[in-house]
Amino acid sequence: MTRRISILGSTGSIGVSTLRLLDEVGGDFAIEALIGGRNVDLLAQQALKYRPAITVLADPSQWSALRDRLAGSGLEIACGEDAVCAAAGRKSDLVMAAIVGIAGLKPTWAAAGTGAILALANKESLVCCGRALIERVEAHGGRVLPVDSEHNAIFQVLDVNQKDKVARLVLTASGGPFWGRSRAELGQVTVEQALKHPNWSMGAKITIDSATLANKGLELIEAAYLFDMPGEKIDVVIHPQSVVHSLVEYRDGSSLAQLGPPDMRVPISYCLGWPERVAWQAPKLDLVGMKTLTFAAPDESAFPMLRLAREALAAGEGMTTVFNAANEVCVQAFLDRRIGFLQIAEYVETAMMRAQLPSISSKDHTSRDMSVQGIAFALDIDAQVRRLVADLFFSARQHV
Ligand code: NAD
Ligand code: MG
Repeated sequence: MTRRISILGSTGSIGVSTLRLLDEVGGDFAIEALIGGRNVDLLAQQALKYRPAITVLADPSQWSALRDRLAGSGLEIACGEDAVCAAAGRKSDLVMAAIVGIAGLKPTWAAAGTGAILALANKESLVCCGRALIERVEAHGGRVLPVDSEHNAIFQVLDVNQKDKVARLVLTASGGPFWGRSRAELGQVTVEQALKHPNWSMGAKITIDSATLANKGLELIEAAYLFDMPGEKIDVVIHPQSVVHSLVEYRDGSSLAQLGPPDMRVPISYCLGWPERVAWQAPKLDLVGMKTLTFAAPDESAFPMLRLAREALAAGEGMTTVFNAANEVCVQAFLDRRIGFLQIAEYVETAMMRAQLPSISSKDHTSRDMSVQGIAFALDIDAQVRRLVADLFFSARQHV
């Protein structure tokens, strides 16, 4: 039977890898929706190759460019945020949710209401919506499969029927390009240096998040929601070789880990094949050639984002949204060379101290999972924090 697959963020790092893997292992599949942000050329090429039922570009100013590129193809196209959400909410069998940042929240939420398997790469939507996103997927008969390599590793080795026998989850972190540097040394790092990840090839936002360890902070929160585990039972260990992708430590003394080369196609292929494993020309681990695998405790004084993420998780869902929003604005400001590397964490910490969280009543909580109202809470906080951080940037400029 033909499987219908939608890809949200098809022109990004995860989206492109997903399409390549589908060529290799997808079996009988058809593309329902391809959704991109701004890259008209790549989206048009993908549309011509895969002939999706709908092709959507988020940026409305490029509507005519997309129309011209696809003229005469007979393909249905649309532009703008509403069209993105409508396409994401179309019936399909599997959705790869791989838009970056909070921009992914509404489309991922729409996809969560379709009953499809949700291969979730867009970690920011989970960090902001907590368990509501997972509950929405399950209430509609779907299933969340984590794409993030650490969570995919845990998903593969966690015995859900014996969760009470789990001592802790251990997330591994490469440490990024600046691992081993002191806080003083980090003051001078450049955007170019931060964009050079030693092991993984990824989009710009997550690459900066890896350099500050905010990525591991987001992953800590992601793990707590995905596996319904308290933050105290989730540890982070620096493992610069990125071979052990994460572990579950059981109370009987056994730790189960998933190993593999640092290549996102491995967890993506697991999601595409689930519940079976697919056979493809996957890169192999060379255990003997590897020589050493090392592990170290994270340095939270040089990399405070991990501590801040832990504090946000302890404070609750509203605060994880604050952490995410402030980080997203600061990463963009760093990429635009408006703030320095160390200022990312400084502004995030200030935003966490100053944000006014709306109180959510228990009624809001129970009505959260089913309707669009479910994400209004997160979107309100996100908007408030963006204004707050913009004001902080503005006052900082007045004082120089
Ligand atoms: P990327 O920047 O390479 O791609 C992002 C995609 O989102 C692009 O297709 C872009 O066009 C699209 N997009 C951006 N803004 C949009 C908008 N407003 N509306 C619709 N589409 C929009 O990012 P990536 O590295 O592929 O990461 C995607 C997500 O997966 C992120 O949340 C990231 O944290 C997560 N993730 C990525 C990796 C990785 O190895 N790249 C690993 C784990 C998790
Ligand atoms: Mg990861």
